[in-house]
Amino acid sequence: MGYRGDWEELSVAIDGVAGAGKSTIGRALAREIGITYLDTGATYRALAFQARELGIGEQDSDALTDLAVNQNLKIVDGCIFVDERDVSGEIRTPEVSSFTSKIATIGSVRAAMVSWQRSYAEAEGGVVGDGRDCGTVVLKGARLKVFLDADPVVRASRRNDLSLEDITERDLRDSTRSIDPLRVAEGAVIIDTSKSSIEESVLLLARLYDEENSKY
Ligand code: C5P
Repeated sequence: MGYRGDWEELSVAIDGVAGAGKSTIGRALAREIGITYLDTGATYRALAFQARELGIGEQDSDALTDLAVNQNLKIVDGCIFVDERDVSGEIRTPEVSSFTSKIATIGSVRAAMVSWQRSYAEAEGGVVGDGRDCGTVVLKGARLKVFLDADPVVRASRRNDLSLEDITERDLRDSTRSIDPLRVAEGAVIIDTSKSSIEESVLLLARLYDEENSKY
């Protein structure tokens, strides 16, 4: 490929609202440009799943932070493992979705997760990371930042785990929390995925990635 830069500059940060197509576009873009894909939402979900299994409550920030700092999380071939157990399917239930966005408001939990995500990205030599704070926190030094948006009705129709009401509630919680809220990173390219196809978005982003990196 011959791109120059460190792992963070060569990463792509994709943020956006639930159901905007972040993971579909992120995964396809990662394949297109030949770097690893990181679903940061899945790492928060894995933590939430584990906390629920251990009976830790959503308000118990000390226990949640302890779990986040000490958790044994692995991603292998796109599957997410907690203590060597593949939880890729179990983290996608509506109960886990709701619990996740609640514990993701805790600053010390986020700090531990961001540290894990950055170490993973560094070890992979850069990632296409998707989430809520990739362009503003996790991959702040990425040359290409993207913000995906879409009509809430279209988003609800794309997701089995989220109703229109859930989507609205999560958007509000994710964008109004005091720590690392969802917002458009400076310099991010904004794409409305209700108006463009996945393929169009991926090709556009791959072209922008090449253009950005050819400057260095
Ligand atoms: O992306 P996904 O819908 O799987 O994320 C689940 C929840 O995890 C989000 O609603 C959000 O509250 C939280 N999250 C976050 N920061 C990220 C990724 C996800 O707060 N980088």
